[in-house]
Order: sequence, then structure tokens, then C-alpha cells
Amino acid sequence: MNIWLKGRDMIAVGIDLGGTKIEAQVFDADWAPLDARRVPTPLTYDALIDDITALVDWAQSFADHQVSVGIGSAGLVNTKTGTVTAANLPSHGKPFAADVANALGRSVTFLNDSQAMALSEAVFGAGRGYDTMLALVLGTGVSGALVANGLLQHGCTQTLGEFGHIAAPAHLVQAHGLPLVACGCGQIGCVETLLSGAGLMRIAAEVMGEQMSPEALIEKRANDQRARKVWDIWCALAADLIRTLTRTTDPHCIVLGGGLSQIHGIAEDLTRAAQAVQFAGFDMPPILLAQGGDTSGARGAAYHAVMCEARNV
Ligand SMILES: [Zn+2]
Repeated sequence: MNIWLKGRDMIAVGIDLGGTKIEAQVFDADWAPLDARRVPTPLTYDALIDDITALVDWAQSFADHQVSVGIGSAGLVNTKTGTVTAANLPSHGKPFAADVANALGRSVTFLNDSQAMALSEAVFGAGRGYDTMLALVLGTGVSGALVANGLLQHGCTQTLGEFGHIAAPAHLVQAHGLPLVACGCGQIGCVETLLSGAGLMRIAAEVMGEQMSPEALIEKRANDQRARKVWDIWCALAADLIRTLTRTTDPHCIVLGGGLSQIHGIAEDLTRAAQAVQFAGFDMPPILLAQGGDTSGARGAAYHAVMCEARNV
């Protein structure tokens, strides 16, 4: 808790925009959630702007002064221009940030959902107390973010964290006869095509010759050697990505998020697999599970808004 926030009558709203729902959370000065409201993601862009405006109006009713508004959105968000690349959102390709700001008549900050989760975990969750934290989100896609001393790291291109679009390691692809498939980003053989939920199913189809959901595969792991092998391959691919990220950013901890991070024992399995590819005599960063649950995205987006206002960004 930052001292300067204490004693100030201020709240913020974080909006978590996903493919199926928009969730708004209102936070008090201690960053405890006061209330939440959730609506289905509409199909049209105009309706999306209207829904967000309505959610901000609702949040505003909690305060007698203007609240900070932060939006965390699925997809690739250009935090400079506010454009969103997300095939499953009506904001795809639109100047979303400018249009929301115009509709609201105030400035709004934007992050992608992985960045919002990362910031929340670094400040309030599993990454608290570590100087630098790398978030690795494993789910429908593979992404993440880097937070140093409570600040999200952004560079020249605004693409830091698009970890899924690093090439899959050739030696593992070759050793296990894995397919090199076209990725949604336009490249071929991105590691996301094997590490996402769909990627795990792709490995299962290749190794077991069967279509099965990640849940079914995980359940089979204990008693089925082929299912165990699929899981081990997936862990080896993830460990290789963790090695790459550690070589380039060397974070003090890695926090796992996303649907696949809920697989039982994943932190332990990835710790083992990552240590196996580290230089002898060197540790890997601790691999931890995100703690924030459903509120992480909204809290991170709201926190970012307040911090940007404080720094006058
Ligand atoms: Zn890609």
C-alpha cells in the first residue's frame, strides 16, 4: 500500500474486457473490491462503447469525485495508440482508447489482460516482495508481462509479453514429431500453437492419435503412460520458453496465470522441467501460481490507471 493513497478518499474502477464478458470492479483506497458488475460482451462496437460508458457511470456513482478508469482488454493492445487486435472482440482494429475517452469525456488507461494480471500479482499477489516478476499466462493463448519494482515494463514496440509468438524449440519439435502449424499472428511454428490449451490437445492428437480435452488428458496422466508423455512434452516446451525468458529478462520470480495454470501440480512440474534445462550450478527463478483469481485483471487495470494519474502520464 502506497502511503500517498492512505487517507485519500479515492477509488478506481477496473474494467476487464474479455471475449464473453465485461466485468467492472470498483476499488476502495485500500484496493479492496467494493462491488462488481458483469455484462456479456456485445457483438457490435457501438454497443461495446455504450456498455463501457454505462459501467463507468455505475462505478462513478460510488464517489463524489471523478474516479480513475483503467481498462484491461483481451488481445494485443497498443498502449500508445489504444488500438486492439483481438479477432473475438468488436473493438478489433478500432481506435478503441480514443473512442472510449471521447464517449466518457475523460482519459482512460489501457493494458492487455495479461499485463493487468501481472501488475496486480506484482503489487498485491504472488509477486509481492520480488524486485522483478515475470507473468506467464497459459490458456487460450500464451502471453505475459514483465513488472520491475511495481512498474510494467514497456519498450519501443509495445510487444513485450507476446511470449507465445516466440518460435517453438526446433529440437523438441523434431524429437517428438510435432507439427509446425500456422499461428494466428501470421508466422509458422509459434510456441503458442503447442503450449496453449489447443496446443496441448494438438500434442495429444499427435502422440496418442486421439482427440481429447486438456481436462481429460490431465485426468488420464496418472494411469496412462501416453498421456503422461504428452504432459511431459508440454512441460518440456514450457520449460524451454521459461529458459528463454530467464536468459533474456532474468526475473526474480515467475507467476503463472491463465486456465492451464490451474492444472494440479503444474508449478512443481514446471520447476523440475525448467531446472533440468538450466546451467549446472544455477537456479531457476521460483515458479509461483497467481493468487488474485478473477479480480486480478480488473484490479491491475484500475491500479495502472491510478498510477498513471499519479505520475501524470
Ligand atoms: Zn504467432
